[in-house]
Amino acid sequence: MLKLSGISKRYGETSVLDGVSLDVGAGETVAIIGPSGCGKSTLLRIVNGLVQPDSGQVFVGGERVSPDNIRELRRRIGYVVQGGGLFPHLTARENVTLAARVFGIRTAQIEQRVVELAELVSLSAAQLDRYPLNLSGGQNQRVALMRALMLEPQLMLMDEPLAALDPMVRAELQEELRLLFTRLGKAVIFVTHDLAEAGYISDRIVVLGKGHVAQVGTLDELVRNPADGFVRSFVDAYRVPEILGRR
Ligand code: ADP
Repeated sequence: MLKLSGISKRYGETSVLDGVSLDVGAGETVAIIGPSGCGKSTLLRIVNGLVQPDSGQVFVGGERVSPDNIRELRRRIGYVVQGGGLFPHLTARENVTLAARVFGIRTAQIEQRVVELAELVSLSAAQLDRYPLNLSGGQNQRVALMRALMLEPQLMLMDEPLAALDPMVRAELQEELRLLFTRLGKAVIFVTHDLAEAGYISDRIVVLGKGHVAQVGTLDELVRNPADGFVRSFVDAYRVPEILGRR
């Protein structure tokens, strides 16, 4: 569903991504994790064409992403950012339906899809008529999720979607997202800086260190067999053995 091949990107003198390759299949959730500034968000922006790589190629559903087809391809890509990124002057419902209305999808079809998605993310009709300011952080993320799913994308890009939430809401949404990803069968890239969250939500974790893939594996593999000193110290910083109950 998604293939990244040798993606490199520099900003001035700084190399942000250096030859990143990655495959994500339909139904697979891949977490991308790494310290702040290691290029996680830049990688997602390259996938949906907001940033051009200096070299390397991106394929979505087998089609190579280029400036000519990115608008069309973006319909197949759902994007959720930290804090939701909702338009404050639109109600939740208007946020969710905006792209579908722009693309000229029939009103009856939009309304039916909203009902389905609201059920999927557990939001009521009354909540959908509120403005983002009058919803909680968790509810805003549910709205952002609905918006991203509205056009039935094959690929979901999630950029630290839960980072701004308090731990209990976060845990609840982690559980729901995990179930949802399994059920929907989409390809998902989930960026987080939280190793436990990455392990809980994803099938595979990609550790990015200074713009290159330092290791790919399950949480267990990263903990037991870190590829190098960087991965080891990254993992150690999360006290994972304690999280896994091995101490
Ligand atoms: P992460 O998401 O892992 O925290 P980012 O992808 O946001 O990292 O950023 C990676 C690096 O690229 C950072 O050092 C950041 O300052 C730099 N960067 C990101 N976007 C730009 C930009 N538009 N211009 C210059 N530098 C940028």
